[in-house]
Amino acid sequence: MAVSQAIPITRHPFANGSYKQMLIDGKWVDAASGKRFETHNPATGELLATVAEGDKEDIDRAVAAARRAFEGPWSKVKPFERQNLLLRLADLVEKNFDELSQLDTMDMGAPLSRTRAYRLRAVGMLRYYAGQTTAIHGETIENSLPGEIFSYTLKEPIGVVGAIIPWNGPLTATIWKIGPAIATGCTVVLKPAEEAPLTSLRIAELAMEAGIPPGVINVVPGYGETAGAALASHPDVDKVAFTGSHVTGQSIIRASAGNLKRVSLELGGKSPDIVFADADLDAAVPGAAMAVFANSGQICSAGTRLFVEQSIYEEFVGRVAEFGKKLQVGNGLDPNVQIGPLVSEEQLKRVTGYLDIGQKEGARALAGGGRVTEGALSKGFFVSPTVFAGVQDNMRIAQEEIFGPVISAIAFKDMDELVKRANNTTFGLGSGLWTRDVSKAHAVAKSLRAGSVWVNCYQAMDPAVPFGGYKMSGYGRESGKQHVEEYLNVKSVWIKTA
Ligand code: ADP
Repeated sequence: MAVSQAIPITRHPFANGSYKQMLIDGKWVDAASGKRFETHNPATGELLATVAEGDKEDIDRAVAAARRAFEGPWSKVKPFERQNLLLRLADLVEKNFDELSQLDTMDMGAPLSRTRAYRLRAVGMLRYYAGQTTAIHGETIENSLPGEIFSYTLKEPIGVVGAIIPWNGPLTATIWKIGPAIATGCTVVLKPAEEAPLTSLRIAELAMEAGIPPGVINVVPGYGETAGAALASHPDVDKVAFTGSHVTGQSIIRASAGNLKRVSLELGGKSPDIVFADADLDAAVPGAAMAVFANSGQICSAGTRLFVEQSIYEEFVGRVAEFGKKLQVGNGLDPNVQIGPLVSEEQLKRVTGYLDIGQKEGARALAGGGRVTEGALSKGFFVSPTVFAGVQDNMRIAQEEIFGPVISAIAFKDMDELVKRANNTTFGLGSGLWTRDVSKAHAVAKSLRAGSVWVNCYQAMDPAVPFGGYKMSGYGRESGKQHVEEYLNVKSVWIKTA
């Protein structure tokens, strides 16, 4: 592992140590309780801002504002106007993209080399939803009833959406929730993660600047157990769109039962990434490594179970380890850095705990295996990219989501057995395979039980292509036409004409 000791200048117009209020009904307000919490840069420990700490009372105020907006003038805003609002917001996000990506880097640690690469997922996503706005329509459906009775469907916005997002990509997560809401005519109360609330607040400022009416987008920062739980159980919220851990997802489902609100869940994973001996190994080595090390492994679809065909296992896993050792770890604001810190001390404990578990279970750490504390990095939550070899399917490091830069490399021989083993997880979010054999690629892609299969690549994402989980990775899709449908109700209308 190479360590960058550069300490870049961290002055930022938004994360300048000042106090940030929450956005309710188009106004910036304090928490009703007056409480505030701090958010820090996980690379340096530096205080970035204090933030109004919302809880139930603030969620109540925000949901009431979102309801008023939903039933008020917003319901009369035509698709073409909503499209213009999304396009204006897209332009503003584009204009401020460097500032926004830097804010993500400072608040949650992902290096600039990553956050800056997300233009398509941010600006392109908003423009995609803008395009969808005028494509929403019901159908005229011929029925078989006797007599003259005409039937058609209307697509209507579902209503007030409670959006709860994690910290691992605040810019894109915020856009993924508010984009389809504006496209469909819903209103939103968004609760960012307590670890990284700043980018959502800055996007809310831009949404106001774009002319999105008061109450349509509300942002209430706060903790999960208070603000998040209040939003998930709120009787006047029609849908919860959640991204986060499967354990929280389960409590969201329970909380949503009171009014049977619609729920979409994008949860965790333990995704298989499979390397066949016939693959282009020069491409597969960096591909499989970055399928896990990108964002320090804090990606729900990271390809953490690396299945490698027995005949190339030692060579391939050794090469992935060498690749991991060369990655530049450091403060993400340094443009040369490839691996930033983990988001928090809690996350550091969790990941280093799994590093201990892996050693105890008998896996061999070919690279990494611990915290990085050299020089300036001692102030942050850095873990070196780790490759565990000799991993067996039943080890905890092969079963449980670690959410850190840790590869569990597993050998396989037989193709039928491989598919069973790859599917032997409670999750089903991402999956990858590397081969030059197109028939094999199709066959394995078909048999993997996961929402995305990447062949000879990993983590490819596009605003038009749906993303989401099988099994305990959740349900519902984000991106693509399906995402827009998640925010719509279908009404059937019958008209007797004779
Ligand atoms: P992670 O482990 O990645 O932080 P979480 O699922 O804990 O994932 O957090 C994702 C989001 O869910 C955050 O915004 C967090 O505040 C929120 N959250 C946590 N617990 C709850 C809860 N009980 N109800 C609603 N939201 C919650």
